[in-house]
Amino acid sequence: MWMCIRPDYSIDPGPVMKISDILARTRPSFSVEFFPPKDQEGMERLFETVGKLRPYAPSFVSVTYGAGGSTRRLTVDLVQRIKREAGLETMAHLTCVGATRHEIAEVLDQLVTSGIDNVIALRGDPPRGETRFVTPEGGFSHASELIGFIRARYGFCVAAACYPEKHVEALSLEADLDRVKEKVDLGADVLITQLFFDPEVYFSFVAKARARGITVPIVAGVMPITNLSQIKRITAMSGASLPPALLSRLEGVGADAEAVRRIGVEHATAQCQALIAGGAPGIHFYTLNRSRATVDILERLR
Ligand SMILES: Cc1cc2nc3c(=O)[nH]c(=O)nc-3n(C[C@H](O)[C@H](O)[C@H](O)COP(=O)(O)OP(=O)(O)OC[C@H]3O[C@@H](n4cnc5c(N)ncnc54)[C@H](O)[C@@H]3O)c2cc1C
Repeated sequence: MWMCIRPDYSIDPGPVMKISDILARTRPSFSVEFFPPKDQEGMERLFETVGKLRPYAPSFVSVTYGAGGSTRRLTVDLVQRIKREAGLETMAHLTCVGATRHEIAEVLDQLVTSGIDNVIALRGDPPRGETRFVTPEGGFSHASELIGFIRARYGFCVAAACYPEKHVEALSLEADLDRVKEKVDLGADVLITQLFFDPEVYFSFVAKARARGITVPIVAGVMPITNLSQIKRITAMSGASLPPALLSRLEGVGADAEAVRRIGVEHATAQCQALIAGGAPGIHFYTLNRSRATVDILERLR
């Protein structure tokens, strides 16, 4: 069994629960990512999803920060609610987009007040309609600056993003890895990868990161495929590649949504098995606020 090893935090969450500590004693861990819903109906669905995943005892739940910082308040409210109402450890995403240092400090202060111990510090993507990230006046240009800012002033466990197939703007994986090293040197305790579909891509990336002196846990980001056109869009944006054999299997079943979902779950299960067998410290599921595929994968992994 690779899960349910952690104690029941809903009974005694303890004063501080850092993801770096959880990863040090629960291996492999699994965690899930949600985004703040747009309306009340979405919020109710999200809490149904949380309820369905809770029995599997995720090590932590993360909540994204909308483009342009648009969900600032919602992200803070949601991490607080999920921690309080579901008794699950949470991590807030935070980006540099459209915010001054002062505004970012306000969000961090709210997280402290809400009893949140974990933050993933990101630069963020350019706002919709813009192609280039522009440093906000009085703000940060790169995630590393935000990480240094947080580390110098707060006691959070700080996570950062990394990209096994390189960040879309980076000239090379090597150049991008130098930036990842910088983020760790400035205080990132944990790295979480962008989604990818081939476990070898992850292992090769981890080997290169270790060779560069990056020693922190590198949690593998996994997105179960549930919809072909959606995953094509997401991979095009993120720079992740779909292995040709997987793509042709998916295209082979065409418009049969249930068959696409079945292949997606099969693939993600095999991917998780390979990652765990190869020593990945944790799997972070990009759930898109749905529980079914993640639950199916967790059941198979048992
Ligand atoms: C696990 C995870 C969670 C995410 N959550 C969110 C979210 O909640 N909200 C959201 O909007 N986006 C989110 N993203 C997307 C992320 O914001 C984008 O990928 C963004 O384009 C880069 O963010 P970063 O933190 O990796 O940036 P950085 O680490 O700043 O890197 C961005 C680019 O700049 C380069 N770079 C870094 N430092 C320097 C430097 N000093 N000089 C020159 N170049 C440099 C890097 O090589 C890279 O190409 C997430 C991504 C991941 C993997």
